[in-house]
Amino acid sequence: MDTKSIGRPPKAPKHWDQRFLVIASHVAGWSKDPSTKVGAVAVRNRRILATGYNGLPAGVDDTDSRLANRETRLKMTTHAEMNCVAYAARSGVCLTGATMYVWPLMTCSQCAAVLIQAEINKVVVPDFVEPFRWQESFDLARQMFVEAGVTVHRVPMKGPVNQEEEPIDTSPCSLDVT
Ligand SMILES: [Zn+2]
Repeated sequence: MDTKSIGRPPKAPKHWDQRFLVIASHVAGWSKDPSTKVGAVAVRNRRILATGYNGLPAGVDDTDSRLANRETRLKMTTHAEMNCVAYAARSGVCLTGATMYVWPLMTCSQCAAVLIQAEINKVVVPDFVEPFRWQESFDLARQMFVEAGVTVHRVPMKGPVNQEEEPIDTSPCSLDVT
């Protein structure tokens, strides 16, 4: 190994949305799902609050035979976004006003419902072609987000990096602890 490269960080995109989508893609890689690996990262003020990836709930045996059976797997799987919200809940982290970065798919309608209830106010996904079989759920999720006032951004992950920077949101979490 080239000793000069030890400790040198990998090149990161300059745009914050792309940086967090890269992290979501890394988290997606932790999923044991044999066909669809999804990662979710909740962020506020450029800091990560929680992460999640799709899989069976903790303690539920993710045996090869269960994971190989698509129908069983889909019925038992917790989606990345829901795992992220569940992790935040059990860690006592408020997601109000946070942004959810999801890789590589648009949020489904059931996760959209949970993200709206958790008061996520922005969802960022990569600008990829969406698989046709989930299009109906993605379109429904978009409609729900529009009605609930949640912004959805599709960010290009190829080509020149967008260097535009967003202002840091300094509004406090609405969780009232007094
Ligand atoms: Zn979902």
